[in-house]
Amino acid sequence: MDYDILISGAGPAGLCLAGSLSGHGLRVGVVEQQPLAAIENPAYDGREIALTQQSAQMLRDLGLWDRIVADEPSAFSPLRDAQVLNGPSPFAMVIDHQLSQHSELGWLVSNHLIRRAAFQELRAAQHKSQDITLLAGEQVARAHTDASAAHVTLASGKQLRARLLVAADSRFSATRRALGIGADMHDFGRSMLLCTMAHALPHQHVAWEWFGYGQTLALLPMNDDPATGAHRSCVVLTLPHHTLEALQDLDETAFGLELTRRFDNRLGAMQLVSTRHLYPLVGVRPHRLVAPRFACVGDAAVGMHPVTAHGFNFGLRGITALAGELRAAHAAGQDIAAPELLARYERAHRRATLPLYLATTFIARLYTTDHPPARLLRDAALRLAQNFPPFKRMVAATLSGRH
Ligand SMILES: Cc1cc2nc3c(=O)[nH]c(=O)nc-3n(C[C@H](O)[C@H](O)[C@H](O)COP(=O)(O)OP(=O)(O)OC[C@H]3O[C@@H](n4cnc5c(N)ncnc54)[C@H](O)[C@@H]3O)c2cc1C
Repeated sequence: MDYDILISGAGPAGLCLAGSLSGHGLRVGVVEQQPLAAIENPAYDGREIALTQQSAQMLRDLGLWDRIVADEPSAFSPLRDAQVLNGPSPFAMVIDHQLSQHSELGWLVSNHLIRRAAFQELRAAQHKSQDITLLAGEQVARAHTDASAAHVTLASGKQLRARLLVAADSRFSATRRALGIGADMHDFGRSMLLCTMAHALPHQHVAWEWFGYGQTLALLPMNDDPATGAHRSCVVLTLPHHTLEALQDLDETAFGLELTRRFDNRLGAMQLVSTRHLYPLVGVRPHRLVAPRFACVGDAAVGMHPVTAHGFNFGLRGITALAGELRAAHAAGQDIAAPELLARYERAHRRATLPLYLATTFIARLYTTDHPPARLLRDAALRLAQNFPPFKRMVAATLSGRH
């Protein structure tokens, strides 16, 4: 047997899982199609990841938080409050941090910084325990499992065997598909454009989700630029793909003017200060999370619409659950791929993710439907929610991770 556990994909989920398995006597292999340089020094990808308090604690436990702060002291921006707006109305439903029993609902940090720190942590674990092998620039091309092992063929022709195969290779996981697991996919017919904008007025660390008519805007408050002092936010525009491509082609000045207009000048003049990134919006719910000697984690286990900011939060939760099961089984001398163990992981992770997956898909559909009855329903729902504290407490608990 080459490995106890072979992980397909070294995104944030695959790297965090490998890190949390190191030092426990398990031999772990990680296969990643990108070259080593891209994993070692990931490029900015536009995403500011909103972390729940629970995920922030998990990042501390994994050693990632301190690594990120050591590289960039202002990397973590507090997410104090959140507001939801509908159409041109100035009315906003506000989720106040006081509903969460913390001084902030959660934290924001750039995705590429998470990836970089997760890679550094994997390198440190490799040196300390010498139990992780990273196969960079290699792609999982074929995979199947039988009662005794998982068998993987890489695109280079190399063949590998492991006691357990874990797919962490994105929501469109080729490994999951190779194992014969189907998935329900919902294509929202929209894409997202993400970038960092500087703006004249301060954001007071309030996140915005603005369901306008014909467009959805989100604003994720970042710390002021330490070099210039400029107020900054990650801006997310949801529109048909061709409209976003046209916006991406605008020069920086025209783009700044266009976003100032789309944000109704509410934060004053806006200016582009990063590259722009497009993502298609597709929600994915796999039919199974496990099969004999196989499990899915990260986006391969649940591909969330980003509007409720939970993809990576769920990823961390699943990793904690699966790694805990694997470490305990190994310490007890049991089979790490025992069917009961995998079934327990599947049940727990489904229970933790399915309600919010379904609610997110519903909200995303309702608030991107523009015909008149839907507009009225959207407005009424927000006003009702604003005056219904239990609902707001539930949203605050979801954002901070106490659910
Ligand atoms: C616009 C946007 C905003 C988001 N905002 C938030 C947020 O605020 N909060 C939050 O919690 N989450 C958020 N998310 C979700 C979060 O980014 C994802 O959940 C997270 O990045 C998923 O990590 P992953 O490792 O599972 O998958 P990925 O990041 O997709 O990584 C998969 C890896 O597998 C590799 N791979 C693929 N196929 C193969 C193969 N055959 N062989 C080998 N390697 C392979 C890929 O190269 C890649 O490195 C957002 C997502 C988007 C798109």
